Amino acid sequence: MENLIIPSDLIEPLFELQAEDLLLGQLEHKIKNLPEREKLLLLKDEEDKTEKSISGYESERLELTKKEKRLDLELSSIETRLLEVDEKLYSGLITTEKEAKSLQDEIVHLKERQDVLESELLETLTMVEEACESIERSNSLLETQKNDIQNTESDLNAAEGELGEKVSQAKTRRVEIVEKLTEEILSSYETYRRHFPSDAVVRFDGPTCNGCHLTMSAMEADRIKGLESGSVSECPECGRLVVR
Ligand SMILES: [Zn+2]
Repeated sequence: MENLIIPSDLIEPLFELQAEDLLLGQLEHKIKNLPEREKLLLLKDEEDKTEKSISGYESERLELTKKEKRLDLELSSIETRLLEVDEKLYSGLITTEKEAKSLQDEIVHLKERQDVLESELLETLTMVEEACESIERSNSLLETQKNDIQNTESDLNAAEGELGEKVSQAKTRRVEIVEKLTEEILSSYETYRRHFPSDAVVRFDGPTCNGCHLTMSAMEADRIKGLESGSVSECPECGRLVVR
């Protein structure tokens, strides 16, 4: 420290400047860590999951609907064939026992197949219905989630706006303070602030440093005590600026 002496009317402004910088740092930290921002991320994550599960249910429903059509088609062709066979059987054109037996066997076989397909169709229809219900449920969940997201976004904007207002007020005050201070004081302050962002400058208040709270030697304390008011030294323990 090259014998910097702060005029008595500039000591207060220097500490005021430091207080504004501390406040600005706190506000910046608050803006970055707003709980609404975290909440918004979680909500968007949940929304994403819901959207994915909806598209999963939708492709499931599509597959089931295709299966339903296939079953319908096969059932209707069995129906047609049954009518044909039945008609043929009672047409009076069947003359041999063997021919009649073969048609009757076919009818039995077709009816068996019809039973299987019908229960498969029933099962498929139930599953389609379940898929539709799941889609409906998820859609209403999605709506709630979108609502929550919108509310949280507006909460976040409000909180950011409020803090942003405080930041701009502190910056205005800071500019006014800086105008009072000298180049030399400012440049020392800014240099030391890189290492001690919130308390580069401390007041001398006996041998215990107000920055690091360590105790300097009695000799050093006496030396600083003997300096004129406004003299700036470095704390021998931490290196902060100590203003007599
Ligand atoms: Zn110290």
